Amino acid sequence: VTGHALRTLRTQPRAAPLLGAGGREDADAHDPGTGSITGWDISTGVDGPGTRFVVFTAGCPLRCLYCHNPETWRMRDGHVVASGDVVDEIARYADFIRAAGGGVTISGGEPLLQPAFTRDVFAGARRLGLHTALDTAGSVAPSAAIDALLEETDLVLLDIKAADPERYRTVTGGRLERTLAFAEHLADRDQRTWVRFVLVPGLTDDAQTVEGVARTCAQLGNVDRVDVLPYHRLGAHKYDVLGIDYPLASTPVPDAQAVDAALEVFRAAGLEAY
Ligand code: SF4
Repeated sequence: VTGHALRTLRTQPRAAPLLGAGGREDADAHDPGTGSITGWDISTGVDGPGTRFVVFTAGCPLRCLYCHNPETWRMRDGHVVASGDVVDEIARYADFIRAAGGGVTISGGEPLLQPAFTRDVFAGARRLGLHTALDTAGSVAPSAAIDALLEETDLVLLDIKAADPERYRTVTGGRLERTLAFAEHLADRDQRTWVRFVLVPGLTDDAQTVEGVARTCAQLGNVDRVDVLPYHRLGAHKYDVLGIDYPLASTPVPDAQAVDAALEVFRAAGLEAY
């Protein structure tokens, strides 16, 4: 995901722990109508078209080596908020966002872990006449609740982080099959999708990975656009604050030629790429 959690909404005392019996954080485990978020921000350019009100949900099943929002990893570290309060906050900016040709993006963390809350916020945003974008790594199995969320979603920003299962496991700690299954589910629904691919020197910039992701995107048929996001270290200081080792401390950012080369691979596969 992209962006930074700078602001917080009015929070509610949490009624129950957000951990399930097996120690896993459950989807929508809190009270109905509420969600766990780390904050929100206004951004332009990276979280969908135009200027966006971006909400960061807490909880993610992945642990990407380059994650710059590690504070969103655990659902229990978020603030519990009512979806209606989030929509009220969005409403304060609605005129500005509409005029800027933007909308509302829900990012994370992984919003698919809180499908009912995310759907409710999107439904409220749509009542305000705002475009809705879901920023996800697709690392959660499709469900009826997720389909209901997708019904309120104008655009999916889908991270595809590698092209083969072993590399995906190295980069994210998760399973590529799950993201591919989610991508195919979106294609079956003909859901409008932009794919985002993070280019990391020595990790995802080899020809096999870039060509593999490009091939996957081209085969899906519902990918309107691919954003190649050069790896950056803007979130590295958060690891210090959280007392976690930053795994890519010696990884350089990609140079402009490497980014251009990756863009060319996507374009050669017939995709619009930026
Ligand atoms: S999907 Fe990866 S980059 Fe996004 S929040 Fe989870 S761990 Fe971080």
